[in-house]
Amino acid sequence: MQSKSQIVQLPLLTEKQISLVVKREDLIHPFISGNKYRKLKYNLLEAKKRGHSAILTFGGAFSNHIAATAFAANEKGFNSIGVIRGDELKDSWHHNTTLRKAHEDGMVFKFVSRQDYRLKEDASFLSELKNEFGEFYLVPEGGTNNFAVKGCEEILTKEDEEFDFVCASVGTGGTVSGLINSSFSHQAVLGFSSLKGDFLEKDIRSMAKNKRWKLMSDYHFGGYAKISQELVCFINDFKEKTNIPLDPVYTGKMMFGLLDMIMRDSFVKGTKIVAIHTGGTQGIAGMNSVLKKKNLSLLDI
Ligand SMILES: *Cc1c(COP(=O)(O)O)cnc(C)c1O
Repeated sequence: MQSKSQIVQLPLLTEKQISLVVKREDLIHPFISGNKYRKLKYNLLEAKKRGHSAILTFGGAFSNHIAATAFAANEKGFNSIGVIRGDELKDSWHHNTTLRKAHEDGMVFKFVSRQDYRLKEDASFLSELKNEFGEFYLVPEGGTNNFAVKGCEEILTKEDEEFDFVCASVGTGGTVSGLINSSFSHQAVLGFSSLKGDFLEKDIRSMAKNKRWKLMSDYHFGGYAKISQELVCFINDFKEKTNIPLDPVYTGKMMFGLLDMIMRDSFVKGTKIVAIHTGGTQGIAGMNSVLKKKNLSLLDI
């Protein structure tokens, strides 16, 4: 499975003499976009090997991971159970595009309060879930574990050797860790954090096999899934100029941060950068419903 690379042309890049390529991992599969597919690949193989027939995982209402797990589990012949954050969704989930699609892919939901959701790693909560649903293979929230990192090591290929920097968005850090592990020895990896969290640095250190990386933590726009009018305008403008749709939770923040760094001369002239488009565009419709309620302008679809 290999993705296309697209050269980005913007006046800023010409002016600063930086070459920027976007690796379109968002296009590797029509439904399971980007890194969530990579992260599930070896997990589903492992689940099969251990003889499981069901996959259980955790996620929020617009989660790319929930959407990807439902689809991939179904495709590979597993049942899937999604433990969803927010018990108020129990009655309204069919208005949510992400959950509706996951349901069509056969996912069974269990809606839990924000309080109970925090127990997602708790042994007694997990055994309660086993009583309710039977045996399952557990994929953690966001999909990150060693199998996921292994899957993300396959994003970079020989043709990416020409780049000096590899950039990606960071949620749990699984994806960027895979990139770090498979990067070439002359490359550095920049992770752009999409959330506030001092724990990320440590998490990545535990999964990364070298030290050629840096976590950029100034571009989270207030936290996970927080979004401003400035970010919406940036994403719409970037799409108009490059034809590349970015998502508001992850890749939009990464690209905003990367172009800001270029503007501030963080890279020397002639630097070649590849930015990984990790997907997530399925979440745009959901984010628009949130923006609409706040009377803010919407993301172009
Ligand atoms: C989940 C996700 C990420 C973050 O991946 P992690 O491995 O959790 O760091 C980045 N981009 C998109 C589009 C995602 O869905």
